[in-house]
Amino acid sequence: MIKSNHISHKIFLLLILLSLWLPALYPQAVPTSEPFNVLIVNSYHMGHKWETHVMEGFARSVENYKNPNVNIKVEYLDFRNRNDAEYLSTFKQLLEAKYPKGTIDVIYTIDDEAYEVLYPEVLNEESAFHNIPLFFSGVNQLEEGTPIPSPSITGIYQRDVTLQLLHFIFEIDDTITQINVVTENSNYGLDLITQVKELIHTYWRDDVAINLIQSDYIEDIQAQLAALPADTNDIVILGGEFQHRHTGIFLEPHETVSLITSAKNVPIYSNDQTYLTTPIVGGCIDIGQEQGRSVFLMMQMLMEGTPIEAIPSRLSPNPRWIVNYTSIYDHDINVLNIPQQSIVINKKFYQLLIPTHVKNILRIFIVIGLSALIITIFLMCKHFRASKKARQELQNKVNHEKLRTDFIINLSHELRTPINVILTALSLLKNELAAHQDLTRRKIIDTQLDNINKNTYRLLKLSNNIVDSTKLEAGKLTLNKENWNIVEVVEDIFTCIVDFAHQKEIHVIFDTEEEEILCAIDKELIQRVILNLLSNAIKFTPKGGQIHGYIRQDMETVTIEITDTGIGIPEDKLSHIFYRFYQIDNSLTRVNEGSGIGLCIVKDIITLHDGDIRVESQLEKGSRFIISLPNILSDKERQKGYLSCIETAVNVEMSDVIK
Ligand code: ADP
Repeated sequence: MIKSNHISHKIFLLLILLSLWLPALYPQAVPTSEPFNVLIVNSYHMGHKWETHVMEGFARSVENYKNPNVNIKVEYLDFRNRNDAEYLSTFKQLLEAKYPKGTIDVIYTIDDEAYEVLYPEVLNEESAFHNIPLFFSGVNQLEEGTPIPSPSITGIYQRDVTLQLLHFIFEIDDTITQINVVTENSNYGLDLITQVKELIHTYWRDDVAINLIQSDYIEDIQAQLAALPADTNDIVILGGEFQHRHTGIFLEPHETVSLITSAKNVPIYSNDQTYLTTPIVGGCIDIGQEQGRSVFLMMQMLMEGTPIEAIPSRLSPNPRWIVNYTSIYDHDINVLNIPQQSIVINKKFYQLLIPTHVKNILRIFIVIGLSALIITIFLMCKHFRASKKARQELQNKVNHEKLRTDFIINLSHELRTPINVILTALSLLKNELAAHQDLTRRKIIDTQLDNINKNTYRLLKLSNNIVDSTKLEAGKLTLNKENWNIVEVVEDIFTCIVDFAHQKEIHVIFDTEEEEILCAIDKELIQRVILNLLSNAIKFTPKGGQIHGYIRQDMETVTIEITDTGIGIPEDKLSHIFYRFYQIDNSLTRVNEGSGIGLCIVKDIITLHDGDIRVESQLEKGSRFIISLPNILSDKERQKGYLSCIETAVNVEMSDVIK
């Protein structure tokens, strides 16, 4: 316990010693809060584009730096206005007067001419700037390895941007035959021209013609370009800034490019950041802001205590290969040749960097696709509208049909009430008449009353038929199926109509294979079917004829046949007789009367029973109606009781049979 305490004391002491001793070994870069004055010298005038980008990068780094006392003074050499010995010596005097010894901590020359003017001052013992640390950038002659004239001078070596620019251009199009180098009258311009000339013939083909077009004035440039021989495959390499000859006003980069294009419309490439915002094809660009930032990083070392001699010059940041999306297509450049590492500018997120022909195919596909989509939407809308209309029409029809059905059913019901009153009154009158003394008069009145009775039944039959057929058509008639002995049901009807048949001297026979066939039927409705078929048979069979009923069963079917020896039905009419209101003879002079509804009701009732009815007939020989009903039993318990009295039903059905 004691021992461990001792050790921890020792470690603690060691740590304190280390913390005091280490900063002495490696002097910590503590930012000074002393003012630090930077004199930036720019070869051009205020606003000259590339230099402005450099100063912007430098100033932003200063803003972000922790020492707020870094002061920047900027002086413009503006050599393009004047550039002779007298002017330069006056400029130096002016600087010395403005910034006496001790007021400037560091000089930064942004580009060529400024460096040329200032570095001799650093070397000159007489100068106010003697031995003041100088940082340079943008000096074309200072490439990597070039000896620096003083240890107080350091900076950013230029990379061989022109070589990279030519690489870039020839990768995009190696069939170029003529290069027009358009540049200003400056060291930069001169360098550009010299390098292009040298590099082309060293690294590329000898047959590429190079035209040098150098002037500060756009008018000269345009004239020289227009005078060039037309070549199908030439380009412009553009660098520098230009002015109007008469006004001296400097052109905006856009204006420069548009005037050059109007003189010679060929792809323009550049290594000048100024032209990035214009419709040139692209180029290899030294990003000014990056240069400014790099110089500041080196200057920061100085501010933080590293002596200038210990800050080695370094290479400028790598230039970027940049292509302008819109211009590539304007000049029909094959996008497959564009170097992979290129940055594509002016490309919207939905645009694709693909060859023009692929783009055209894609466009066709898009147009076809869109057209198909529009047509589909149009057809769908049309279909939707049509089906909506059809649904509406159907609904209207259904509504209308319902109204009609309800009206007919109501009307027939309304008819039934007075008919029933008439029938009751008739029956009373008949009873009264029975007590009458005068036999002759009684007979006359009785005959008339029978007549009224029969016609009232006919009205009732018509009314019943209309109600039932309307209900069947509207699906309002439901079956009440029970197990009945169908032989008994059918035979009972036969028995009931015998008297009517005899009045027409028609012989009726009913025959069956079995006495009892139990089958699930709606008894009332099957009675109506048999009655209807028998009334037709009596109606259409002449005197002395015969009606034969026959019933049999097999495993699946119960078959009822009603055969007569009547007038028969023409073969071409056989399929029509089950239609509503259909009558073979519908002339006003026809012998038999009826509404043409009966067989339609018969067919509907049999269909409701899942059965079938068909007819066989021969003209003048007779007809046979064959009913097939499924031979099945119902689970439903039949209500006890015997066959109901069907006398009225028979009278009603037979009302239009016997005259
Ligand atoms: P109607 O009330 O006119 O008898 P139906 O629907 O019962 O109506 O019969 C339709 C038509 O079928 C009849 O008008 C008649 O022309 C023909 N028809 C029906 N049954 C027979 C039959 N047994 N013999 C000849 N024709 C018949």
